[in-house]
Parts: sequence; C-alpha cells; structure tokens
Amino acid sequence: MVFGHIIVKKNNKKIDKQLSLCLRHSASKNVALPDEESLKDNAQLYRSLIETSPDAIMLIDKDLKIIMVNKQAVRLHGFDNMQELIGKSALDIIAANDRRRAIGNAFKITKYGTRKNIVYTFLRKDGSYFFGELNVSVVRDKLKMNNVFIGIVRDITEHRKADEVLKLSEERYRATLDSMADGIHVVDSSMRIILFNQAFINLNKNLKLGCRAIGKNLFDVFPFLSDKARNEYKKVFKTGKTVITSECHMAKGREINLEVRKIPILEQGIAARVLTVIVDVSQRKFLEKEFEKVHREILESNMKLKELAMLDSHTGLYNHRYLEDILEKEFLRAKRCKYHISLIMLDIDYFKSINDVYGHQFGDLVLRQFATQIRKVVRKYDIVTRFGGEEFVIVSPGTNTQTALSLAGRISSNINLCNFGDKSHHVKIKLSMSIVSYPENDAATGMGLLNVADKVLNRVKEEGGDRIYAYSDISKQGQIDNATRGEDIDVEVIKDKMDKLTKRVNQSLVEAIFAFAKTIELKDHYTGEHVERTVEYATGLCRALNLSKEETNIIKQAAILHDLGKIGISDKILLKKSKLTKKEFEEIKKHPQIAADIIRPVQFLHNIVPLVLYHHERWDGKGYPSGLKGEQIPIGARIISIADAYQALISDRAYRKAYPKKEAIKILREESGTRYDPAILDMFLNVT
Ligand code: GH3
Ligand code: MG
Ligand code: MG
Repeated sequence: MVFGHIIVKKNNKKIDKQLSLCLRHSASKNVALPDEESLKDNAQLYRSLIETSPDAIMLIDKDLKIIMVNKQAVRLHGFDNMQELIGKSALDIIAANDRRRAIGNAFKITKYGTRKNIVYTFLRKDGSYFFGELNVSVVRDKLKMNNVFIGIVRDITEHRKADEVLKLSEERYRATLDSMADGIHVVDSSMRIILFNQAFINLNKNLKLGCRAIGKNLFDVFPFLSDKARNEYKKVFKTGKTVITSECHMAKGREINLEVRKIPILEQGIAARVLTVIVDVSQRKFLEKEFEKVHREILESNMKLKELAMLDSHTGLYNHRYLEDILEKEFLRAKRCKYHISLIMLDIDYFKSINDVYGHQFGDLVLRQFATQIRKVVRKYDIVTRFGGEEFVIVSPGTNTQTALSLAGRISSNINLCNFGDKSHHVKIKLSMSIVSYPENDAATGMGLLNVADKVLNRVKEEGGDRIYAYSDISKQGQIDNATRGEDIDVEVIKDKMDKLTKRVNQSLVEAIFAFAKTIELKDHYTGEHVERTVEYATGLCRALNLSKEETNIIKQAAILHDLGKIGISDKILLKKSKLTKKEFEEIKKHPQIAADIIRPVQFLHNIVPLVLYHHERWDGKGYPSGLKGEQIPIGARIISIADAYQALISDRAYRKAYPKKEAIKILREESGTRYDPAILDMFLNVT
C-alpha cells in the first residue's frame, strides 16, 4: 500500500536516493541506462514535478509507513507540515471502515505492481474526512525486500457529491418514468434502445425485457413490429416531426387500443433519438364508444319524439299540427311548380252513436281500424291526417279534382265493404266527404283551401251525409258561403244559414236515427231491411189512423229503433236456427228494456222510449216486459207491434222460410184481441 513520497528538504540526500531508485526502476526497461549526472538532473526534475503536482503524492514503505509526502499531501490531509505526516502509518489517514480493504489492496499491489482508481475515505488531521481516488504503483528493489509504494491521491469529494446528486436525480427521474402510465422507450438513430420504463414492460408482458434490452436493436427485441413502424421511425429521423398512429389488437379476448407517438429528440435541429410514447387508450375508446352509443340513442329517441309530436298517438296518422305545417308547404310547392293539389276532408257519419251503443273503447278501435283502412287505399304520397275526433284530411299533392274524386270514390267503396269492430260487435261506417283542389278552387293559402273544404263538408252534412261533394257541386248551386272568400258577412246570409241548419237538424234527425239503427244491421243481419219495411207499415197505419204529423214522426222513429236492444243479445241466440229454449227466450225478452236504456239519455229521442219499451206488450196483458193491457199500451207501441209482426212473418228467418202474405194475414187475424189491438189490426189489414 503506497502513498506518494514526500520530499523533505532536510533529507534531500535520502530523497534523491529514493528518487534515483525509482527512476532506475522505471528506466530499467530502457535500452541504455542514464549516467549518474543525468540521473541527478532527472531526480531534480521529478522532485519539482512532485512538488507542483495538484495531487497528493506519498512514498510508503513495505510496512505502510509514510516516508515521503509532497505539499499537496500535507494540505489535503490538513497537517501543518511534512514532518507531522512522515513516519505515520498510511492506515492512520484512512477511515477505519476502509482499512481492511486498504491492507488487502496493499497485498495485491505488491503482487501485481499497480492498482488504479481505488476510492477510500481519507482522514484529515482534525478527524474530518474526504473522498480520495488513489492510484498506486510499487517500486521494487532487487531483493524485493524493501518495496516502496508510490501513491497519488486526488480529492474527489466534489465529484462524489456531484455523482450522488446525479444519481439521486437519475433515481428520481427513473421513478418518475416508471410511475408513468404510458409506455415509454427511446431509441437512437441506429434503432438501439437507450431507455424504457416499467409501463412499457407492462404493455409487453409476454416479453422478458429486463435490462438486457438496453443497447439492443428495437426490431430485434420486437421482431413482430411491422414495416410500417420501421418506416415511421425512418420518417421521424428524416423529418424531425412527430408521427402519431393508432394500433388495435386483441389480448385475452379484450380489444386493446394503443396510441403511439413517435417524438423526435432534437440535437442541433436534427433528430438524434426518438422518444416513443405508447398510451393505452382502450378505456378512452370504450368510453368514446359508449358515449357515441348514448349519443346515437339520444338522437334516435329525439327523432322518435319528433315523430311522435307529429303523429296522432291513437290512430298513428299525422296530427293536426303536422297538417297545418305540411299543408302550407305543399300548397306553396304546388303554386310554385304549377301543379295541382287536392284536399279530401272526411267525417264519419253518426260516429257518436257507435260510442253510445258500444262504448268509447269500441269507438276507439273502430277509429284505429278506419285509419288503417284509409292508409291502405291512398297512394304513397298522399298525406293522411287526423283533423280531429272522427274527421280526417287527406292532402294529395299533384292531384286534380277529377283524380281526387275517384280517390274519394275508392275510399268510400272500400269503407262500405268493411266491417269494423271485434269478435263480439261489427259496425258499418258511412262517410261524408268534401273535395277541394288548387288551382281549380280559389285559395291563397293552404289554410284557405282547407276552410273551403270545411264549408263543402258542412253542405254534405246538411244534405244528410253519406256522400261526396266537390267544391263545384255546391258552387253550381251558387250557395257557397261568401265568407269563405273573406268577404263581408251579410245578415241575410247568416239567416239563410241558420234556416238551413235548423232544417238540417229536423231533416236529418230521421236519417240520423236510421244510420244509428243501421249500426246494428250486421248484428241481426235482416234488421236493416226489416227496419225500413216496419217503418213503412207503421207510417201507413199512422196515416190510416189519422194521427198527427208529430205523432207519426215519433212512431216512425220508434219503429226504426224498436229492435235496437238486440245489440245486447248474443248472436248465438239471435241467429239460432232451431227453436229457442225457455232460457234463451228469456234473454230475447230483454231487448225492449235494453233499447229503452240506450235511448233514454238521448234528449231528442225521449218520446220514443215508451214505444220501444212496450212494442212486445200484448192486448191481453200477456206480453213483456211489463204485462200492460189494452189501451195501457201506448198506441205507437200497438202500431209497431203489428207492423213488426207482419214484417217478420213475410221475411225469411233463421229457423223458417217467409210466409206468403195471405198466410201471414191469417196468422195475425188469429191473434186479434189476444196479442193485437183488434181495431188497429183491422185498420192495418184494410190498408195492406
Ligand atoms: P255527424 O254525422 O254529424 O258527423 O255526427 P257524429 O256523431 O259523427 O259527429 P259529432 O261531431 O256530433 O260527434 C263526434 C263524435 O265522435 C263525438 C265523440 O264522442 C266521437 N269521438 C271523437 N273522437 C273520438 C275518439 O278518439 N274516440 C272515440 N271513441 N270517439 C271519438
Ligand atoms: Mg263530426
Ligand atoms: Mg261525424
């Protein structure tokens, strides 16, 4: 173990001798040995070199005793002068925990001659320490008995501190890198891996990377990297610009989405390395997809809501709001493009009666079926809308009056053929329809045209419904309300209108009752015709009996509705071909009461209730429902009873063929005074 030797002036001779020894030794390999004089010069040269050296130099003997030091050594170890150091053991200026190593090293140096860059903690005189880097070589004498170590010590405390700081910052930087969720690696321009972090290892779990990957070519470590990736790296090195790509692959049945950023690390404007940042965007992509899905669902439901806002929830047809909107659009289009447009307005006749007889729910069903049926008949560019209640408007672009009339005709025949309802009840529907067209009919707006259609429809209703009118049908009669054209409303016109309305109410009352009764036509399939004939006979009798017009009217209405109660009797009984059982007959007997119950709430039918209720009473008091006798029975009921019986006898029934008239009269006569009022029957037989 050696330290640099110390030149002590007092011992110049000794030192020179030692130096000469060293020089000889170092020159021993030279070809020619220098003479004594030049050796002396060399010794001086070396001495001054030693003295001016910035490093501490010591000479130490085989027993590790310091025999020479330079000034730098004195300064470094904090001594006051050379003498204080000379004679000390070299181990005294080495920190205790390094001494064993120092002894070990001394042996090695003795054996191998030299040892470099040994770092010890050295002590100063005051006990403080510093880090020194030691280079030692041994100068041997011939007998190898008095080897001398030459040691050169350099204070590396500052380096050490800087190293520690560096190490610390490196550790921190490493920890930061490793704590990042994104995979990172850096390659140099030869594609050698310089650095990678823990996340990168995690992303490549199947690879046993470890430190072995450092320095290796990226494409050797990842042979599966595509040519595309290779080209991307080339591009980054060439252009110095970042390249961002997306990758997707499956792992454990899960879709992994990666975003790969290849970022150049520039040195003097040139890409010297490439930093690759790999971000697992699977979660983000998943959320994006989820978001997209939700967004799509919202859009869809918005569309649905929009559609729903345009549709009538009950019939599925377009609603009034949509009609207002589309009507103006289509009207303007027709005007602009100079083509026709027609509106067909429909109103179901006596629809209220369907609700009254079968209930609102049944009415709803009929409306739905009606809407479906209409949709089937119209062309695909016709727009069917529910105007309100049981009124509908068809907007038919490109259609003139003639075509609209034939479409309305088609609708009418189609609806006439249909039976609406369910298993237990069927009804027929009659329609009132009006047709207006542009440019045939004068209108400035779609709404204007619709108003004309409404007026025309009113006229249809006034005339009893169940027909189709185009604007021309009423304008021919010159009776279209001027108000439709926005002109001043004349008092006379209003009076005229009121008159007509009153007339309509009276006129159509009977027709209304007829239509009402007709709704049960299908139930008891002979009823329709039967009703009309019964009414005829009853009216004839009234005339013969000289009854007042008013009374005749009431009897007529009662005759129409007398069998209305049959809608409450099951088809099984009504249409039964064989004779009725007692129980079945009891059921049948309920029908006058059912009819009376239905009619009673209808104010204008109030007077006919007793006639309907008692049309099955007998003159002898053995009839039903109340067993009234003789004149207790209203005259109208007695008349209807005869008219009804005669009509029934001369008609085919489910269980028998029709009787010839003569036979029928005979049967009636047989029951004169028992079943029938004899006077009225006589009168009937007279007029029939
Ligand atoms: P008219 O021949 O004069 O048209 O007589 P109407 O009974 O058909 O017409 P009115 O305008 O007097 O009455 C319309 C009826 O339609 C009254 C109402 O109860 C019925 N109605 C309207 N909307 C609905 C609905 O959505 N469902 C049902 N079941 N009935 C409806
Ligand atoms: Mg109506
Ligand atoms: Mg109606």
